[in-house]
Amino acid sequence: MSRPLRVAVIGAGPAGIYASDILMKSGQEVLIDLYERMPAPFGLIRYGVAPDHPRIKGIVNSLHRVLDRDELRLLGNIEIGKDITVEELREFYDAIVFSTGATLDRDLEIPGIDLEGSYGAADFVGFYDGNPNFKRTWDLSATSTAVIGVGNVGLDVARILAKTADELHVTEIPDNVYETLKSNQATEVHVFGRRGPAQAKFTPLELKELDHSPNIEVIVDPEDIDYDAASEQARRDSKSVDLVCQTLEGYAMREPKGAPHKLYIHFFESPVEIIGADGKVTGLKTERMQLDGNGGVTGTGTFTEWPVQSVYRAVGYKSDEMPEVPFDASRNVIRNDGGHVITHAGEIVPGLYATGWIKRGPVGLIGNTKSDAKETTDMLLADYAAGTLTAPSSPSLDAVTEFLDKRGVAYTTWDGWYQLDAAEKALGESEGRERKKIVEWDEMLKHARGNQ
Ligand SMILES: Cc1cc2nc3c(=O)[nH]c(=O)nc-3n(C[C@H](O)[C@H](O)[C@H](O)COP(=O)(O)OP(=O)(O)OC[C@H]3O[C@@H](n4cnc5c(N)ncnc54)[C@H](O)[C@@H]3O)c2cc1C
Repeated sequence: MSRPLRVAVIGAGPAGIYASDILMKSGQEVLIDLYERMPAPFGLIRYGVAPDHPRIKGIVNSLHRVLDRDELRLLGNIEIGKDITVEELREFYDAIVFSTGATLDRDLEIPGIDLEGSYGAADFVGFYDGNPNFKRTWDLSATSTAVIGVGNVGLDVARILAKTADELHVTEIPDNVYETLKSNQATEVHVFGRRGPAQAKFTPLELKELDHSPNIEVIVDPEDIDYDAASEQARRDSKSVDLVCQTLEGYAMREPKGAPHKLYIHFFESPVEIIGADGKVTGLKTERMQLDGNGGVTGTGTFTEWPVQSVYRAVGYKSDEMPEVPFDASRNVIRNDGGHVITHAGEIVPGLYATGWIKRGPVGLIGNTKSDAKETTDMLLADYAAGTLTAPSSPSLDAVTEFLDKRGVAYTTWDGWYQLDAAEKALGESEGRERKKIVEWDEMLKHARGNQ
C-alpha cells in the first residue's frame, strides 16, 4: 500500500521552511516534520536580522503560509543530537534534511582578542535580538568603539551601537535590551575593512539606510576611496558593487549633517592587535594596506593605534557541528555534494541531505536559501523516485510523537507558536508597538505549551 513520503527537516530557519515548501508543492505526496531546537521557529530571521529591519523580519508573514499547511508539522524545543539522535530519527523518516544554519562567531586570531571589551558580533546580536541562549545585559560604557568587518553584520552592529535606545524602542526589542541600550555611551563607532570600497561585502540598501538615522553621521575619508584595475572591473561586473562604491563616494564627499554619533567607515586598515591595559581593551592597532592591482592588498608597514574601549569582530558566522553527521571543519559545513550528505571519503550517505547555511557556509541573504533548497529537494525527490531511500520502520505521524512523549521531550507546535506570537503582540500593543519579544525560555514555553 502506498504511503506519503516522510521527511524530517532539521532547523526551522528560512532554508528549512523553503525546503518544506518546495517538497509540499512538488506533486509528491509528502508529510513533513520540521524540527527546531528553539521554542519558536524562523531561525536567524528571529535571532539574527536586526530589530530595526522590520521589512526583513516581516518575511515571517510569508513563511507563515508554509507552516499553516496540513502536510507540515512543527516540532519545536527539540534539539536533534541531544533530545533525539539522527539514528533514532531514521526509524520514522525516509529522508532527513539538515538546515541547521549558524549561530557562532568565526575566530579572529590577533593578539588581545581575549581582552575584556573584545566581543564577537554573534554574541552581541544574540543579546540585542533577545536570544535566550545569550547574555541579558551588555557593557556599553565605551565612548569609542571599533567594529572589524565590512559586511552587513558589521553594519548591523555598528548601527545598533550608533543609534539611541529610544530610536530602537519602537522595534520588538525586549525590556532588558532597551534598558541596557539606554546606558550606551558610544559617540564614535569605527568600522574597519582591510581592503577597499570595491571589496566591501555590504549590500547597497543596507549601506544607504545607515544615513537615515538622524543620530548617525556616516563618515568616509576621501583618502580611503581607491580602486585598482581589478576593483574597476569588479564595479563593471556587478551593479551591487558599483552601487556600494557610489554610496561610499557620496559619504566621502558630502558636507556633514551634524548628527551627534559619528560612524566612520575605514578602508585599507588591517587590524593586527587589540591593545589593552589591566585586562581591558584600550585600543585597536591597524596596519595601512594598499591595493596590489588584483583587488588584493599588501601591508605598507605604517601602523595606527585607535583609542577605543571595545572591539566587535564581525568576521563571519560559523555553524555548530551536528553529532553523527560528517562535518567539514575547515569550511564549517556539513559535508555535502550540493544536497546529499557525503562521507569524508566522498560517498553519499543515503537519506541524509543538507541545505541553507549549513550546506554552503554562512553567506548570503534569506532569499538565497530558496534556490539552495530547490537544489537539495530535487536530489531528494530523484532519490525517492529511483527507490534508493530506505523505508522507515515506523512512518506514521503518531509513532514519533509517542517516542518523544515517552522520552519526556516537552515539544512545541505550530499552534503553540500562534499563542506565543499573540502574547508578544499583546505585550507590544500595550506600549503602542507591533511586538515585544519574550526572551526567557521558560516564559516562551509557558505561552507556546499552555498548561501542558
Ligand atoms: C546578524 C545577521 C543579520 C542578518 N540580516 C539579514 C537581513 O537583514 N536580510 C537578509 O536577507 N538576510 C540576513 N541575514 C542572513 C540570513 O539570516 C540567512 O541567510 C538565513 O537565516 C540562513 O538560513 P538557514 O535556514 O540556513 O539558517 P538559520 O536561519 O540559522 O536557521 C537554522 C535553524 O536551525 C536550528 N537548529 C540548529 N541546530 C539544530 C538542532 N541540532 N536541532 C534542531 N534545530 C536546530 C536553529 O535554531 C535555527 O532556527 C542575516 C544574518 C545574520 C547572522
